Amino acid sequence: MQVVIDKKSGFCFGVVYAIQMAEDILAVEDSLYCLGDIVHNDKEVDRLNEMGLQIIDHKKFKTLKDCKVLIRAHGEPPATYQLALKNNIQLLDASCPVVLKLQHQIKEGHEDIQNIDGQIVIYGKDGHAEVTGLVGQTRGEAIIVYSDEDLNKINFKRPIYLYSQTTKSPQAFADIVAKIKLRIVDAGGKEEIKFIVHDTLCSQVSRKEPHLKTFSKENDVVIFVSGTKSSNGKMLYSTCKKENPNTYFISDTDEIKKDWFNNVSSVGVCGATSTPRWLMEKVALQIENY
Ligand code: SF4
Repeated sequence: MQVVIDKKSGFCFGVVYAIQMAEDILAVEDSLYCLGDIVHNDKEVDRLNEMGLQIIDHKKFKTLKDCKVLIRAHGEPPATYQLALKNNIQLLDASCPVVLKLQHQIKEGHEDIQNIDGQIVIYGKDGHAEVTGLVGQTRGEAIIVYSDEDLNKINFKRPIYLYSQTTKSPQAFADIVAKIKLRIVDAGGKEEIKFIVHDTLCSQVSRKEPHLKTFSKENDVVIFVSGTKSSNGKMLYSTCKKENPNTYFISDTDEIKKDWFNNVSSVGVCGATSTPRWLMEKVALQIENY
């Protein structure tokens, strides 16, 4: 049985940058606070925790003073920076450049759309850290849509600027765009409504989707390794599963079942942008040992 690790799976540059920053600081300091999971992978968080990284939530952040806190790749809303200033907290900002650019775009879009009484709409998951950071650029006024039902929050007779959370599926984003267009027509605003679509998906994720489709078809069994909290992990797993029904989602080696590999000649191991390489190697090694 041949076991292959997908060369293109693993950390994106945003996650690499944040982890590198944490490791560099922990090489000279005993501990460091990080606001939220530095990466949506419990195994990698555990590894960094052993080095001294302390994950804190926003409740704890509000109680801190005179210390250093790392901002992870997902970014933060302006309120976090304001609070840090007030409490003399030094922020070590590892926000991903792609997310920072999107925050800036949304802020500008929000200022612009005030002049035409329009709405900022963000396609993404309510409560996801990146989305919270994006909504913060609009003083909390952006409308978050994820399901069809959420579309009812939009007034289709007023202008709309649409953006996407970076890690969403290109196909799902295209579907939302098509649905909004239909609703604008249904609302009778076809000619006069300004609907501007900003494709703000991250290429680190969207390029992976077609690649993983091919990878999934090339192998008899696919083992998708990811933390359960990873947004792109869920999306990319479902892409693999659609292409190859013999795809299994695992977070660590203890979830692997031996009988998945009966009469199998090739196994592909892949993962999300938050899956560490060392974990995929550990998974591949265990399968090879069968
Ligand atoms: S997925 Fe893209 S936007 Fe998100 S952290 Fe990685 S590089 Fe940045």
